Amino acid sequence: MAAQQRAITKWDAVLFCLLFPLHVVRGVLMVVVSVAGVARHVRRATRALSSTLECPSCGEANATVGRWTCGVCHATYHGWVGRCGICGAGCGWFACTCGVAITLPWERP
Ligand SMILES: [Zn+2]
Ligand SMILES: [Zn+2]
Repeated sequence: MAAQQRAITKWDAVLFCLLFPLHVVRGVLMVVVSVAGVARHVRRATRALSSTLECPSCGEANATVGRWTCGVCHATYHGWVGRCGICGAGCGWFACTCGVAITLPWERP
């Protein structure tokens, strides 16, 4: 059984002409949002893999590897700031030498 085809009317053409620019704008916006999302992820990954994190207040570069005191087991360990070397607890932030908290980039949504 053959499918029935509907004839294209002038109103179909008018509707297409009215909606086509909206679809083009929507497509361009989708591309822009996607590229911005990828750029944001690359910036966050670069920051997360960096050996230093800048303080949002004074701008000092703070090392992410060093001597830390765990907030859970209170042990002092040497290593990466993101995870306690003794109990394995994660860390969400650490304090700059100026006292302002530096949030670790992998803890942010
Ligand atoms: Zn600071
Ligand atoms: Zn610990």
